[in-house]
Amino acid sequence: MKKIAIFPGDGIGPEIVDAARLVLDAVDQAAGLQLQCTDGLVGGAALDAADDPLPEASLQLAMAADAVILGAVGGPCWDNLPPAKRPEQGLLRLRKHLDLFANLRPAQIFLQLLSASPLRPELVQDVDILVVRELTGDIYFGQPRGVEIVNGKRRGHNTMVYDEDEIRRIAHVAFKAAQGRRKQLCSVDKANVLETTRLWREVVTELAPEYPDVSLTHMYVDNAAMQLIRAPAQFDVLLTGNMFGDILSDEASQLTGSIGMLPSASLGEGRGMYEPIHGSAPDIAGQDKANPLATILSIAMMLRHSLGAEQWAQRVEMAVQKVLDAGLRTADIAAPGEAVIGTRAMGQAVVQALQL
Ligand code: NAD
Repeated sequence: MKKIAIFPGDGIGPEIVDAARLVLDAVDQAAGLQLQCTDGLVGGAALDAADDPLPEASLQLAMAADAVILGAVGGPCWDNLPPAKRPEQGLLRLRKHLDLFANLRPAQIFLQLLSASPLRPELVQDVDILVVRELTGDIYFGQPRGVEIVNGKRRGHNTMVYDEDEIRRIAHVAFKAAQGRRKQLCSVDKANVLETTRLWREVVTELAPEYPDVSLTHMYVDNAAMQLIRAPAQFDVLLTGNMFGDILSDEASQLTGSIGMLPSASLGEGRGMYEPIHGSAPDIAGQDKANPLATILSIAMMLRHSLGAEQWAQRVEMAVQKVLDAGLRTADIAAPGEAVIGTRAMGQAVVQALQL
């Protein structure tokens, strides 16, 4: 039996999570996973109920779970609260407490939606990239940091720092991910300028003999940013530090052009959190218009990474392909004039396509 904590969150969060729950429940029953799912509050919903974006009860629920599913947090009604009371603080604190150091963001092209990409079809039709981003270190957390007055002028500084253990543990995740894919790992750094990333390159290279089946290359981050646009299909797994990954994973996600389709996983030692990459889309909340497929594909990632159910992960991914093949579209991925279905109907369609 595995424990799953579910945090629907705000805006479209409850709708997309409910649609994804249809899929999870169906797989749970068919595969006999015996999941114990419990809902909790995070973000604006938690602020409204308990004046805290991550109440203690929610934190305990997440800490006791094997995996966490999150919809999205945030919305205009909480935008003017002080920083500690912002909905996204709930999400950041959750990631920190669960020590989720590895962020996995696949950027996969769905051929049925090729025209949504801002790039020419021939450039993106073979794109299937997994960005593995380190999530708990680097310049975002390094000390010292701050803004001070030096000789009468304001001076800002941050510290880029990684120790070899931090590099090693994320590199292992990336090597293993590459083993399960096309076995090509490209590690991104700026080793020509930054000592921290020179160490990054050294440590990643030291691990390569442990993965003789994976071909390792290195690329400077500026070149990687360019290559993602010039020839994105060359990449299989991209390994990055926190800051470079923040930027490159957003760039990679846009290759597909469909924000409602992209899942993510954040992994720690023995625990994972799964969420779509998009936000709470307040403009369409409560209208049964949101695309639940990113959340459903996040469930597939959970089946793969936290529940040891690779076959079921693939079945969910295939079911998503089938509904797209059948021409079913939510509004965000529909071509002009194409018929659209709602959030819940899309969830039901994926369950049907699982052919249980
Ligand atoms: P957003 O991702 O919520 O929305 C951007 C655009 O994409 C909107 O037009 C929205 O309607 C559309 N969209 C997003 N997801 C969709 C889906 N599943 N189906 C159909 N259309 C979808 O980004 P935003 O508008 O910049 O932010 C809105 C709120 O979400 C803000 O409060 C922001 O802080 C929050 N946010 C939360 C997360 C998170 O929870 N991880 C991430 C990003 C933004």
